[in-house]
Amino acid sequence: MKLRINEQGLAEGVRYVPSPNCDDRPAGCAVELIVIHSISLPPGKFGGPEIEALFMNRLDPGAHPYFAALGELRVSAHFLVRRDGELVQFVPCTKRAWHAGASSFKGRPRCNDYSIGIELEGTDRTAFAPGQYQTLAALTLALNACYPIRDMAGHSDVAPGRKTDPGPLFDWKRYLAMLDIKRPGRNPAVVEKAKGARRPALPRGMYKVQTKSTAARRRVKNVGR
Ligand SMILES: [Zn+2]
Repeated sequence: MKLRINEQGLAEGVRYVPSPNCDDRPAGCAVELIVIHSISLPPGKFGGPEIEALFMNRLDPGAHPYFAALGELRVSAHFLVRRDGELVQFVPCTKRAWHAGASSFKGRPRCNDYSIGIELEGTDRTAFAPGQYQTLAALTLALNACYPIRDMAGHSDVAPGRKTDPGPLFDWKRYLAMLDIKRPGRNPAVVEKAKGARRPALPRGMYKVQTKSTAARRRVKNVGR
């Protein structure tokens, strides 16, 4: 799968559903961050028209008790990756989509200003589908080819305590390892991050329980370093 983002900020050949929930990025603000989310409406139900309806302000608040709570939310994301790997675009990359809310990344606030929001159809408690990783990786490479992307983060990373998506079952190592770092012209930061994925790492949000014996072994190993 190869994707290309054109000068209008649209992914070529990708279904485009223009959401009104966007505006201009601040002047001179480059696209430097990819924020990964997960969403399903109602939670745990996949394949319906509700996510698109939400981003188009057409979600019927009476159709499900959960929708009433969404009230007058005006939200969007640049992209949605459906369970079957289909990519849908809602906001041109040149515009600011309303996906991260109150947020900051490495001390820099208002992530919407300088990020691309990608929603994966899913929940915090469901493994994502292989096709979703393939599409996400292809999209990351396409974005990295035309914007100075410095990093990728989860919504939970930029809004900790407030947001939990994409959740502990999002496999960062798998995603980063899928980024083809052999091609030239990639942003070094993304290349470094992809290389880091080759080191054994635990998924985010999961912490290794260190027993006394492993701690002791590590102390012994560290002697003389
Ligand atoms: Zn989110």
